[in-house]
Amino acid sequence: MPPVELRTDVAIGVAIPSRNARGRIARLTGVVDSILASHHYPAAVEKLLAEALTLTALLGSLLKEPQGQLTLQAQTEGGAIDLMVCDYLGGELRGYVRHDADKVAELPNEPTLQELFGKGYLAITFDQPVADERYQGIVPLEGRNLGEAAQSYFSQSEQIPSLVRLAAQQRGEHWFAGGLLLQHLPEGEEGRERLHTRLDHPDWPHVAILGGSVKADELTDPALALDDLVWRLFHEEDEVRTLPAIALRRGCRCDPDYVRSVIARFPPEEREAMVGDDGVIRVDCAFCSSSFAIEPTELGS
Ligand SMILES: [Zn+2]
Repeated sequence: MPPVELRTDVAIGVAIPSRNARGRIARLTGVVDSILASHHYPAAVEKLLAEALTLTALLGSLLKEPQGQLTLQAQTEGGAIDLMVCDYLGGELRGYVRHDADKVAELPNEPTLQELFGKGYLAITFDQPVADERYQGIVPLEGRNLGEAAQSYFSQSEQIPSLVRLAAQQRGEHWFAGGLLLQHLPEGEEGRERLHTRLDHPDWPHVAILGGSVKADELTDPALALDDLVWRLFHEEDEVRTLPAIALRRGCRCDPDYVRSVIARFPPEEREAMVGDDGVIRVDCAFCSSSFAIEPTELGS
């Protein structure tokens, strides 16, 4: 078997056992390009969604269950962005942004979270159906960027000291996004079930400084393999492990049969009102911009 290329559209686990630190590193190129291709957003919104998808990949790849789903949702009042939703299931990513085009056009070059979202909130939901575990944390969208907002999610909502770095750059026609998540888990936990924490543990500032030194260019450079980047950052540690790679893909779970079954549950007069001038009911998927045309006769009476 050829070795797995750890350069693009992949997430890998990172562990530094002697420092009780672990996390994920991810890079997305084709996945981001193909998701953005179905939306036609302005550049500022594309960059935001590229970073959000990277964060979604970092968090989603923490799930223990292959059937687990991670959803990231940013909701706002009075911002240029109104709603942003991304999710992850088994390495598949999707996402969309609802925005005010006029307000986005007025944004500065490197907009802050405040400028993008106004007064916003970030909700992160971990859903593991087999273990029947569902956990949602919500924090204000604060900080200079999405990475900082995610860091406050972990410190406020889960009391886990964390470092999150996200970067996205457009080079020519293509987007290159990358991210690093590191967490201090002194009890050796993998998940969020922890009873206590020590924010002042001396190992953590050390790891946070090394991890925090990663540059946007390194996170996004498709020529730099992720395991080489991990080595570059942490080669002075006693031991650095990388965990098996998770391939990332674009995927949507919209399903014409499901859409049909939902619409069939509406009373006939409401269904009647949904029929357009062309005689069919059109339903659009916000995630992938697919449009389904449903014949009213398919739905029975
Ligand atoms: Zn879809």
